[in-house]
Amino acid sequence: MNFSKRLQEWYFVNKRDLPWRSIQDPYFIWLSEVILQQTRVEQGMPYYYAFTKAFPTVQELAAAPQEQVLKLWQGLGYYSRARNLHTAAQQVGAMGGNFPKTYKELLSLKGVGDYTAAAIASFSYNEAVPVVDGNVYRVLSRIYGIATPINSTAGIKEFKALAVQLLDISNPGTHNQAIMEFGALHCKPANPFCETCPFNDQCVAHAQNRTTELPVKLKSKPVTHLYHHYLVVRTPLDNTLLVKRPQQGIWAGLYEFPYIEASKTLECQELQEQLKSQEWLSGVRFRESVTLQHTAVHKLSHRTIHATFWEINTLDEVNDSVHIKDAFEKPVHVLMDRYMKSQWNAYL
Ligand code: SF4
Repeated sequence: MNFSKRLQEWYFVNKRDLPWRSIQDPYFIWLSEVILQQTRVEQGMPYYYAFTKAFPTVQELAAAPQEQVLKLWQGLGYYSRARNLHTAAQQVGAMGGNFPKTYKELLSLKGVGDYTAAAIASFSYNEAVPVVDGNVYRVLSRIYGIATPINSTAGIKEFKALAVQLLDISNPGTHNQAIMEFGALHCKPANPFCETCPFNDQCVAHAQNRTTELPVKLKSKPVTHLYHHYLVVRTPLDNTLLVKRPQQGIWAGLYEFPYIEASKTLECQELQEQLKSQEWLSGVRFRESVTLQHTAVHKLSHRTIHATFWEINTLDEVNDSVHIKDAFEKPVHVLMDRYMKSQWNAYL
């Protein structure tokens, strides 16, 4: 039996019933794919429902303020994806709300790369293009015993060529869904179910006991450590100060407390010293010395942020401050979100 037939037989018995499986609308499929690149199905589902409820059409997403889109995206990370989603919706809006209909044309949308274009083209339009995501790399590298690194140029080419060869061109949408689902549920990263696998008579990794070795990935760049000392202002009227990050770089366009960046975690005394150079605090009287409220470590792909949150109670109001209740309406990054929910839940 050929590869795709075995795969699809497994799929029809084992597939999950997911809301975006029964539809062909490219807008909804695109939304689900962008969300699922960020998180697992269970965590992604509420985001999918929130986006489709807030923006039932691509034009409604295009017309929304960026802050609303970022707020709905909050918690998923990689906010550039949310901004790209918004920009791409505007591109489609400019095309009269008609999604591009081919893999090639879909690539012209902001943030839509090879994987997403192939997913939309095959799921919505049944175009014969293979999807190659992390699940597909894992399944193919194991079954065919391919040790070429999946994040190398040679690997990307080799796996794509194999995926093209294996694709069921009469049913590319189902084939693609099936291989991704098989990787997610059966040929899992750790402890794949080899004993009950339809490919265990031909799988090289299984035969050679190499499932933990495959797929191979090149090591990424070394991690840089950043130390952010967030200054959580509390005024007598329960106001706080938020600043918007620049539109470029990490967490672009999101709000956060002002912070001091240092080369290490600072002691209270050292922080007090640094506060003297903060112009926006000049003339503001403090009720007591700053207090450490919360620490957190957040890992990004090449950076680790060591965050400390210091509360500064003031005797005076501070220019441009907002009420804590209103701070919850702003799109904020994950470190902020956790801090606010843990320290200010009385205001929620
Ligand atoms: S035999 Fe094991 S490693 Fe090979 S495809 Fe099946 S589940 Fe994956």
